[in-house]
Order: sequence, then structure tokens, then C-alpha cells
Amino acid sequence: MNVPLLDLKPQYAAVKDEIDGAIAGVVASQRFVLGPVVEACEEAVAAYCGCDHGVGVSSGTDALLLALMAEGIGAGDEVVTTPFTFFATAGVVARLGATPVFVEIDPSTFNIDPAQIEAKVTPRTRAVVPVHLFGQMAEMAPIMEIADRRGLVVIEDAAQAIGAERDGRRAGSVGHYGCFSFFPTKNLGAYGDGGIVTVNDPARSAKLKTLRVHGEQRKYHHRTVGGNFRLDALQAAVVLAKLPHLDGWTDARRRNAALYRRLVGELPDDARARIALPHETPGRHVWNQFVVQVADRDLVKDRLAAAGVGTAVYYPVPLHLQECFADLGYAPGDLPVSERAAARVLALPVFPELPAASIRHVASALADAVLTS
Ligand SMILES: *Cc1c(COP(=O)(O)O)cnc(C)c1O
Repeated sequence: MNVPLLDLKPQYAAVKDEIDGAIAGVVASQRFVLGPVVEACEEAVAAYCGCDHGVGVSSGTDALLLALMAEGIGAGDEVVTTPFTFFATAGVVARLGATPVFVEIDPSTFNIDPAQIEAKVTPRTRAVVPVHLFGQMAEMAPIMEIADRRGLVVIEDAAQAIGAERDGRRAGSVGHYGCFSFFPTKNLGAYGDGGIVTVNDPARSAKLKTLRVHGEQRKYHHRTVGGNFRLDALQAAVVLAKLPHLDGWTDARRRNAALYRRLVGELPDDARARIALPHETPGRHVWNQFVVQVADRDLVKDRLAAAGVGTAVYYPVPLHLQECFADLGYAPGDLPVSERAAARVLALPVFPELPAASIRHVASALADAVLTS
């Protein structure tokens, strides 16, 4: 049996008529950049996330970059974030000439450990960027408390977590900015690149909208320097057509995760003891990835591949040890929890359309793999 890590085709097949119709509508209108479909998408996604405003942008990376730009963050500033995330989270900080400051993660959730943030805050710190990794929200309450007390802006990297909830709040609605990606592999994926920034403050929304069109306030009059960070209407149309299905897909991801949990729980003790299941905190985990931890991870990955199971490693090198950040002066051993996670994590297939029989195959192949590795 072959089980890919992700297969987008069954989802397209299920909503083909709606998507094709939405795309055809944009083509017929010949309005490809911003415009009414983008505005409808912004409104619908912001409302879904429990936010007052949404600003459609060119990618999740650009969502993060624009949020930092809107706050005027640049050279001499420090931004506190997690080292265990996709590169973009810290890459955008460095691109603006600011310095990413990495705080250790919680070993059970892989999210930034709020108890370790304040020790890294200096007079130069301007922002905190928590990441809701794999679809589970970081612990926002203590992060907001520190930020309020120290005058910091909070930019949620919610690229993997649309619809996630904690303490009754949705991802992207707690901090000053919520940054989402519509990259095709995310839970609400477009058919190309795209993203959105959510905010509750109308002044921040206006600033973002100016920055995404080269800082233009009035045609050909530029008070600030922005860039081309626009969302195009074809992507917005796809996102808008998919949004009504998102909760159903999230439910399916949650069912798949629960089935893995049950099946691994039922394995013989020797196999079960070698598989660390992902920790689920109270709230709504949206399972962009289902990530287990195993010893000899690369060997287990190869064995699963031989059994026809696609897996991936998110992420093999924590950001404090990336070559491009060598000048920040971190060394192996500085953030041991993140480094240990990077050595042990393995993402299993969890996409909504995955049949139960495939999940059973993955669980038994995983048991075989950990026992023989
Ligand atoms: C995908 C992702 C991004 C970047 O989104 P793009 O749309 O690919 O630019 C940023 N942060 C995290 C955590 C992501 O998973």
C-alpha cells in the first residue's frame, strides 16, 4: 500500500465544480489583482478567525514581513521568537536588519516556552513572534501579559493554524497581528502563493494596505516605502470557495489524529514505548501536521518509505543553528530542547481525505520500523 504524506487531488475532486466556477468567474471579470474577490476573501477569512480586518498578501512570509514593517521594526531592534519553526519566521526579521532572538520551546508542544521569554527581553526588544506549530496554538495568555507589561507587539505566526483555538480564542485573533499562509500544503491552501494578515486595529489595517502597494496613499504619492505584496484574485477565489469546507476538513484531520492515537496506544508495549505521540493541549488542534518523535528517526523514515509511507521532517535544523545565522553566535547545545526535537521529529500523513485503512497501514508500518531500527 502506498500512503503519500499529502495528496491534494482528492480534495480538488470533491470541490471541483465550486473551484472551477470561482476561477472562471475571475477570468471572466479580468480583475486579477486585489479588487472585489480579494475583498470578499479578506472579509470572510478575517471573520472566520474572529478578527475585524484582513489584509490579503502575497504569501505567509510576506504577511510576517509586512507586520514587522508596519511596526517600523528594523536595524538595532530585536524580535523574540522560536527556533523550532519554518525559516520564514526568523528570515523576515533578519531581512529587515533586525535581530532574531531565539527562546527555547516546550518539549511537549514544540511551541515557544512563555516562561523563558522575559529573560531574553532587552531594551531593544520590539516584538514577540509566537508560532502555532503544526496547528496547535502557543500559550498566548502569558505571552500577552509579558508583551503588555514590556510594551512589545505580538505577531502570531498562524501559518499552520487557521481555525485553531485555545482558551476560547482563535489563532491570529489574540496578538496585535495574525499572519496566515495560503500555500497549497496549509489547511486552507490556494493554488499558488498567498496569505493574509488579520488585525483588530483599523489603523494597523490601513497601514498594511498601504505597505502592500508600495506605500502608496494616493496614486503615485508615496509617504513610506512598501512593496508589491498583493494577493491576486485567482488565489482569493480559490480560498473563498474552499473556506466553507474548512471546518469539515479540520474535523477529518482531528479524526485522523485521534485514530493514530488509538492505534499507537493499542500497539504492543515494546513498540508503543518507542513512539512519542504529539501532546494535545485543551482547545482545538487543527493538525496541519501529525508529528511523532522517535529515536533513530532517519532510519525509521527510510523503513517507512520502504513500506510505502511518505513522511517528512519538520524541521531538521533549528534556526539558531542555521548557517545564515552563524553571526548571531549560537552554538550546538544552546537550545537543547529544540535540538533534541529536530533530531527526533517525524511527520506522518494526516490530510483530511486519508482513508482509515491507510492510517492503519502507517501505524503498523511505524511499529515495525521502530522495532527494527
Ligand atoms: C508556511 C509557513 C510560513 C510561510 O508561508 P509561505 O506562504 O510559504 O510564505 C511561515 N511560517 C510558518 C510556521 C509556516 O509553516
